[in-house]
Amino acid sequence: MIVGIDLGTTNSLIAVWEDGAPRLIPNSLGETLTPSCVSLDEDGSILVGRAARERLQTHPARTASVFKRYMGSDKLIRLGEREFRPEELSALILRSLKEDAEAVLGHPVTEAIITVPAYFSDAQRKATRAAGQLAGLRVDRLLNEPTAASLAYGINLRDAETRFLVFDLGGGTFDVSVLDLFEGVMEVRASAGDNMLGGEDFVLCLINHFFEQQKIPLGLKSDAHFMQRLIAATERAKRALSDSASATIQISHHDTEYAMTLDEAAFERVCAGLLQRLRDPVERALRDANLRITELDNVILAGGATRMPVVRRLVARMFGRFPACDINPDEVVALGAAVQAGLKMRDAALDEVVMTDVSPYSLGIEVSMQLGDRSYSSGHFDPIVERNTPVPVSRVKRYHPVSDNQKYLELNVYQGEARMARDNIRLGSLKVALPSLPIDDSGIDVRFTYDVNGLLQVEATVVKTRETHVLVIEGNPGMLSEAEIAARFITLSELKIHPRDRIEHRTLLARAERLYQQLRGQGREWFGARIVAFEQALETQDKRVIDPVRAQFEATLNEIEHDSFTVPFND
Ligand code: AMP
Repeated sequence: MIVGIDLGTTNSLIAVWEDGAPRLIPNSLGETLTPSCVSLDEDGSILVGRAARERLQTHPARTASVFKRYMGSDKLIRLGEREFRPEELSALILRSLKEDAEAVLGHPVTEAIITVPAYFSDAQRKATRAAGQLAGLRVDRLLNEPTAASLAYGINLRDAETRFLVFDLGGGTFDVSVLDLFEGVMEVRASAGDNMLGGEDFVLCLINHFFEQQKIPLGLKSDAHFMQRLIAATERAKRALSDSASATIQISHHDTEYAMTLDEAAFERVCAGLLQRLRDPVERALRDANLRITELDNVILAGGATRMPVVRRLVARMFGRFPACDINPDEVVALGAAVQAGLKMRDAALDEVVMTDVSPYSLGIEVSMQLGDRSYSSGHFDPIVERNTPVPVSRVKRYHPVSDNQKYLELNVYQGEARMARDNIRLGSLKVALPSLPIDDSGIDVRFTYDVNGLLQVEATVVKTRETHVLVIEGNPGMLSEAEIAARFITLSELKIHPRDRIEHRTLLARAERLYQQLRGQGREWFGARIVAFEQALETQDKRVIDPVRAQFEATLNEIEHDSFTVPFND
């Protein structure tokens, strides 16, 4: 059994292909969205998901979120006394999803399709694959998120002939794909995106505006506790603006109260720069697909951030029509990953379906350009695989040295669209020894092979000797070698994960700790006693004792959360 996983910046989901349709699997709290948060509990065990998200405010130094942004880098993230790489934190999320699936399906889960933003670089993709391995999963395929969304959408339209665009704005990334659906063949015509643009940026933008408007001392930006509270308050306001005409961001620091009310129009003004940035990839994808906006039959929304009315309005304005939202934008990518799992398992229901994808960016090497007077200008980028080439693809190009008897040729491999190599992303380098020969007789054939997972292999063959070298991109500081993965797998397996059957109660307690910090005076004292009472009930380990206390405790938490809480008189 292969599972499909959407490993998101904010939330992650797991789904399976079952009885001819994709199905989401709930976690131990019965929810299909598991927050992509990890926290190190005081007893040294690991909390994943909602319990960890509750602790972002109460224990910011022991809790991590949005680490997907650092995938492919060597940044270390500290949780209490331990440090983790981004792929290790992602592995803990994957492990938790895997356990949820195993509990529901009743058998071990060892293989997965994991989705990645189409715009993820080679290093980010390799880090995602490593995260899978660290979680004990064989990663069958890395699937581009907008491609997954189109699979989920297209599977219901198998017999239609249609052309659509997927607009996927998640927590941290933005992807656009243009697709053609014809007789069961789903063809990605072009992809484009922005790796550094997502729903979280709208929160940051609001926060910066809040600091400015309220003249909040800038020093508070380095107060982790204050910032976590502010991020949570701003996130709430941003989401409230999706359902109501205005929302307020409110926070106190010592005895100063800061508050700012925003309506839709103000929100749109504050985030105008971000909204403008959403236009570029749409235009690029359409240009690469050789299509005009009017030639599209539909626009599909994916990613939680497309719930923002300002984004929907922008899409409607750009396309002159309202986008399709028949599939929940939070779920569409995971459902598509499960469809891909069905394809991989060759399910009969998917007999006629074929999916083709493209490379979302150009890949090439750094070259020197010959000028008219036999002098050279160095540092230019020469693409070998152009962006939006259908994958898998293998291309060869021949390169010559710049002088007679040159002893080495250094290949620097880049990804991107900029004219100068230095403005693109460097993937790695390879030094190839050359036999002593005149320029025209000397040279190498460089072969780029780019597979369906978006992973690149570079091979250089010396023309004269046919000697072949393979570029090992894994030498990058941001990447783990197979040996390192094996070693870290062991360390990670030794980490104690909070027991599944107790996570529900642990989540309630984490939530209570957060709400406790919101209260003051008598209310705080009263609520503190309720937390102790709940802890005492838990200690009995007797369901008959726990259940009623728990129900009441949960009702109190809801009251505090929704500001309808008053301290009872006779307690
Ligand atoms: P994803 O990575 O697809 O889980 O997207 C998560 C992003 O969607 C986060 O930035 C959330 O703040 C955002 N989001 C989720 N629900 C809403 C909502 N109702 N209104 C505005 N943004 C939302």
